[in-house]
Amino acid sequence: MALLIKRPNGTEDVTPKNIAKWHTVEHVVKEVASCYGFKEIRIPTFENTELFQRSVGETTDVVQKEMYSVIAKETKFTLRPEGTAGTIRAMLQNGMLNDAMPQKAYYILSCFRHERPQAGRLREFHQFGLEMAGSAKPSADADIISLAYEIIKTLGIKNTELKINSIGCPECRAEYHKALKGFFENRKSDLCETCLSRLDKNPMRILDCKSPVCSEIAKDAPVILDFLCEECSEHFNKLKGYLDNLGIIYTVDPTIVRGLDYYTKTVFEFVTTDIGAQGTICGGGRYDGLIQELGGHPTPALGFAMGLERLILTMENQGIEFDTEDSCTLYIAPMDEAAVPEAMKLAHTLRKDGFWVEYDTVGRSLKSQMKYSDKIKAKFTMVFGENEINSKIAKLKNMKTGEELEIKLDDDFSSKFLDITVDGMFSGILSDL
Ligand code: ATP
Ligand code: MG
Repeated sequence: MALLIKRPNGTEDVTPKNIAKWHTVEHVVKEVASCYGFKEIRIPTFENTELFQRSVGETTDVVQKEMYSVIAKETKFTLRPEGTAGTIRAMLQNGMLNDAMPQKAYYILSCFRHERPQAGRLREFHQFGLEMAGSAKPSADADIISLAYEIIKTLGIKNTELKINSIGCPECRAEYHKALKGFFENRKSDLCETCLSRLDKNPMRILDCKSPVCSEIAKDAPVILDFLCEECSEHFNKLKGYLDNLGIIYTVDPTIVRGLDYYTKTVFEFVTTDIGAQGTICGGGRYDGLIQELGGHPTPALGFAMGLERLILTMENQGIEFDTEDSCTLYIAPMDEAAVPEAMKLAHTLRKDGFWVEYDTVGRSLKSQMKYSDKIKAKFTMVFGENEINSKIAKLKNMKTGEELEIKLDDDFSSKFLDITVDGMFSGILSDL
């Protein structure tokens, strides 16, 4: 036998058996986002590499270590490591930012990062995310945080903590960078190689380093909140007031700086303790400089992204029920091959009317067809042979109750079948025969 080819490390298959979990989460995120006026946007899986270098940032882990890039016909492309850059590019390219503000869009997409695979950390993962462009007001920050909060609540997820912080604007950050540089300069010999190279260019990135030594050093680093300018400080205070107003509980965590360079002012994360070390199920914030950085007019904007695998993992670990998928309504069991054409026609008619109908396509004996209909949890079965074809009367069996009913296979069959399957009972139908 030929050797099996396995999927690449850090990728996952979602089989039909597991898809209900994804549908549950996708349904909720779409419903909640639409209540807040967000509509879906779809963007390419790959972009010009420069888009991520310019937006996510040259000194971030994502750009320095994690991107999947190819050179194809002399152009460098990268599989998207996140959704914000592509979405903002698309907003610009499609003129959306010339329309009435704010512009809002959400997405569900796959992201690619070359990371060390572990529970909750994959090389291909999926995000639900959204972006809102055109509002500088802290009420917009409160709006999207409450949206994320509502999704988590609607999914039934418990034990999550909302952590917020402000990382200021380029003005207040200049002072902060100086202080940080001074602090890390004195501990230079202990920093990892990547952080050493970041010391001059972007010392804040050191705060986000995953190396245990660097993160230990970073614990005593100066905090940005002490350096906020008046405008940033007021923005942050207003946001906190709005969250209080909505009854959303948060903690201010000055260590949150987020892994991407484009953030300004508000940053936030929803973290759970129920899925191990990779507990951030949602991360986001404000990025007032990004649109200009990508060639647009200065336009404030903000957004967040949730890791769908981490949401599902949390729900599984917390024992939350997922929506159950429907099962087959009718299994038609042809007694022999001669009955197949009529069974096929009957199935075809019912399917056109919206019923989930199956019949034997693998040539099973009648006995094993019955076992199979059990396995697929068919609600009704119908054995179909010469007698049924000639008399145009067949027996419908309710698999739950074992009840049987003779039913005429006339033009009216579909609507009678609808009555039966909706009630799940036979009462009142017999007289129609
Ligand atoms: P982390 O701190 O876990 O590395 P991040 O800051 O890199 O996360 P973002 O770029 O903000 O993550 O992405 C938003 C969300 O996407 C994260 O909060 C997380 O839920 C999810 N996510 C990020 N990277 C991965 C990954 N490699 N595998 C699975 N989910 C991920
Ligand atoms: Mg990361």
